[in-house]
Amino acid sequence: MIQSGSWLDTDGLSRALLGWWKVSGRNYPWRARRTPYRVFISEALLHRTRAAQVQPVYEKFITQYPSFRILADSDQEELVSMLRPLGLFWRSRMLVNAARQIVDQYDGQLPEEKNELQLLPGIGSYISSAIRCFAFGFPEVLLDTNTVRVLGRIFSEKITDSSRRSHRFRSLGARLMDREQPANFGYAMIDLAALVCVPRNPKCQVCPIANYCRYGLSHRSELRRR
Ligand code: SF4
Repeated sequence: MIQSGSWLDTDGLSRALLGWWKVSGRNYPWRARRTPYRVFISEALLHRTRAAQVQPVYEKFITQYPSFRILADSDQEELVSMLRPLGLFWRSRMLVNAARQIVDQYDGQLPEEKNELQLLPGIGSYISSAIRCFAFGFPEVLLDTNTVRVLGRIFSEKITDSSRRSHRFRSLGARLMDREQPANFGYAMIDLAALVCVPRNPKCQVCPIANYCRYGLSHRSELRRR
């Protein structure tokens, strides 16, 4: 049971989260310079792959294939060889097919609309939201296994296999979203899930939003005793 705290102060939560992220968030090259092309490539490479593995490959990739046009004309063998350390061999073919379609249909520029993005090879719900949020600045809620875990704990909601696709979790995420800085907010949620609100034994003692989280508040006395 919640004894005290600021649960449901969504502005306070957002401020605390962003304040923490500005100091403790992770730096990756795809976050520093965000064009639609770079965001698309980084999200495609990060799919089911750890960021530490992706970083060296991403830098080589962007140098060798700096645009959809160049990627569309790339040599498939070379591309497969560059992406080999990441596994998932279908990814090379998908990237070239997407690049060709973007060149043919959109003159080499990614569209902003979700329904158009999702018709492109390799772009599902999460990647289309990530592109809209990080590249175009739309306040998109990013729902994956990790952010759903954080939302489930903040709002004390049961998580199921379908939570990532549920309207309920999307609306919970939207309640917290900082609409002035959606990209930073998205990165902050991702980093909190990776560094603090980890799957087992979340680090509530050092969590910047413990005062705004039902799980953190309800475990407060127990954590003090440890
Ligand atoms: S207080 Fe604990 S459960 Fe809540 S977001 Fe922070 S780490 Fe996760």
